[in-house]
Amino acid sequence: MAEIAFIGLGTMGLPMARNLLRGGHTVAGFDLNPEALAQHRRHGGTVTASAAEAAQGATFVFTMLPTGADIRSALFDPGGAVEGMTSETLVIDMSTIHPGECDRLRADLAARSIAMIDAPVGRSSAHAHSGELLIMAGGEPDDLERARPLLALLGDPIVDCGGPGMGARLKIVNNFMSIGLNVLTAEALTLAEASGLEVPLTIEVLSGTAAGQGHMQTTYPAKALAGDLTPGFMVALAAKDLRLALELGAELQVPLAVGQAAQGPYQQALDAGRGGLDWSAIYLMVRELAGLD
Ligand code: NAD
Repeated sequence: MAEIAFIGLGTMGLPMARNLLRGGHTVAGFDLNPEALAQHRRHGGTVTASAAEAAQGATFVFTMLPTGADIRSALFDPGGAVEGMTSETLVIDMSTIHPGECDRLRADLAARSIAMIDAPVGRSSAHAHSGELLIMAGGEPDDLERARPLLALLGDPIVDCGGPGMGARLKIVNNFMSIGLNVLTAEALTLAEASGLEVPLTIEVLSGTAAGQGHMQTTYPAKALAGDLTPGFMVALAAKDLRLALELGAELQVPLAVGQAAQGPYQQALDAGRGGLDWSAIYLMVRELAGLD
């Protein structure tokens, strides 16, 4: 049975710690909030007065905290978890933090011969309760394998993202896209409603096109990723249709901030003489601008 410390018993951490308990493990919890500790105790966990005390004798130390600064504080401040750790301890950080800070935390732990994996999660607090999180794991292969039986109590799939820090990176990329799409989706459905369309009908129709199915599933594999930029749908026509939508939005007083921002790359592609290429050429243009081949 693994001895586990769990630091950060909030919206996500509390149900995750509970799933580790349900897996038959002992879980020493620590949180700055006494109510969180009381809940963890009610779930059958033990509670401690400091992160150091929680980590004492633990083989695995989980952190599920708001920010990188919180993790640094919970690990390295006086009374921090490292005081209770040995070289046998594996730190499993499941928070969403800046990848650079994740790298620095790993390096600072490594200086004390303590290994760390990053394993941030996708999906929601409901999935934290049901043990169905999507886990984006980054770490040395041996460390990932050590952690895998515990991670399996928290979610599925457990994706090996390709090395230390890569889980933290994939999590940021994932959230960038879903958070940006949230606004674009809100703009599209509001434009539909303001135009007099039924929102359920709009959702049904958009679910059958690249709008709802996503470019990663449709246009990119068929065109840009296949090295084929002969136009299925031309950049110039896409730019024209975007302009039509923005004009309609202006007439109906629908704010379309993401739509307006998208005009920039389309104009750039037109200015570069790429109007006749497939619209997935936008992807290749952004890669070029980022200095990627
Ligand atoms: P939360 O604010 O509900 O919980 C954080 C807990 O950490 C709190 O109970 C707080 O008291 C405790 N805490 C803060 N600093 C501490 C310290 N130094 N020592 C001990 N305890 C400390 O946050 P959450 O929603 O559980 O999110 C945790 C992490 O998971 C965040 O990085 C978040 O971005 C990420 N995340 C959240 C969700 C979600 O749906 N809530 C989904 C995926 C990922």
